[in-house]
Amino acid sequence: PKSLYKWQRVLLKVSGEALAGDHKDNIDPKITMSIAKEVASVTKLGIEVAIVVGGGNIFRGASWAGCSGLDRSSADYIGMLATVMNAIFLQATMESIGIPTRVQTAFRMSEVAEPYIRRRAVRHLEKGRVVIFAAGTGNPFFTTDTAAALRCAEINAEVLLKATNVDGVYDEDPRHNSNACLLETLSYQDVTSKDLSVMDMTAVTLCQENNIPVVVFNLNKPGNIVKAIVGEKVGTLIWG
Ligand code: UDP
Repeated sequence: PKSLYKWQRVLLKVSGEALAGDHKDNIDPKITMSIAKEVASVTKLGIEVAIVVGGGNIFRGASWAGCSGLDRSSADYIGMLATVMNAIFLQATMESIGIPTRVQTAFRMSEVAEPYIRRRAVRHLEKGRVVIFAAGTGNPFFTTDTAAALRCAEINAEVLLKATNVDGVYDEDPRHNSNACLLETLSYQDVTSKDLSVMDMTAVTLCQENNIPVVVFNLNKPGNIVKAIVGEKVGTLIWG
């Protein structure tokens, strides 16, 4: 292996919410720049990084369908388009500091990005390019967490790193209960049986079936992305 670190190839999931921070315009350029810089420092170590971006900072299909009367599929297509905006923003940021980056979309938008082609994505990674997967799975009724689990399995990434706005998984919601405890490790079974809101069940099941460990960590703490990518202890590890 090229990398001396724990992981050779990782899949980083960045939710839309994490990209937004508390910026009024949906995306905080300081956050995308800090992601870009931390990712740059690990690609230099030879670790291959693929990213799945969410779109919840711009549009969430399910909530719009619920309140507007839009049919769910149309709303979800808008949600998937939102992820493409985030992906292009992140790509442009990464390239502004010299990281070669490709965006691949789950449905064709060939004027703006490559279509998703598994072998091509893997080739980009082998050449040291960062690949950003956009438009989720390409299907309504799914989430970008499921897209992250799916792409992770497809490209044989060894771990799914889920960047969020909290330190990891807690036994109770830390926003509502100040006594909530951060859990360091969890099994997939714990996540499903205790109904811990980590990822949707489809995503958890895909990870479990394919033995993909998941690390949930806080993107807002400087250095955490690097820690997660090189395999240092951070946040919550879901495995086994
Ligand atoms: N979406 C979808 N299919 C997918 C992935 C995403 O329909 O495979 C839509 C869905 O409407 C979702 C929106 O895209 O609400 C944004 O994705 P998500 O909510 O997963 O983003 P995040 O919570 O990570 O910001």
